[in-house]
Amino acid sequence: MATKVVIYMRSGSDLYQLIILLSKPQTIRVGKLGLFSFPAGYYVYTGSAKNELNARIARHIRGRKKMHWHIDFLLRYGRIVKVNRYQNTNLSECNLNQRTENKHGSKIIAPRFGSSDCNCRSHLIYFEKPRHFSSKCYFDDYAPESRGLVRLY
Ligand SMILES: [Zn+2]
Repeated sequence: MATKVVIYMRSGSDLYQLIILLSKPQTIRVGKLGLFSFPAGYYVYTGSAKNELNARIARHIRGRKKMHWHIDFLLRYGRIVKVNRYQNTNLSECNLNQRTENKHGSKIIAPRFGSSDCNCRSHLIYFEKPRHFSSKCYFDDYAPESRGLVRLY
């Protein structure tokens, strides 16, 4: 009896978005990028992690760590309230970020945040109002494979 061997090729990328709540305004120095006044509200950070998506997300959630990425500085004050995973997606990190930036009410507070290596204005997009997050699909609509809400606290 012949055995069928199926090889799944992974051609897409592994992306994630952290939805971060900053409950009060905070002035934060973001490494060499400089000092920024972050208003209270919700921040969507878009990143990618090759073959280590869960490890990367776990690192973001972990409290104490060396400041390595721009996001580490914000996470000293902000709280991750939602994580969206986009595994093996055809979207690029910058496409996903751009789509978030195109959402109504988006603002950029810290230019070049997380986007030192690309042409995006910032990989951190600010939304003042939580209504964007009341709909479960608001940030999941590009990735049906996304697991959606992850309880962290
Ligand atoms: Zn980008």
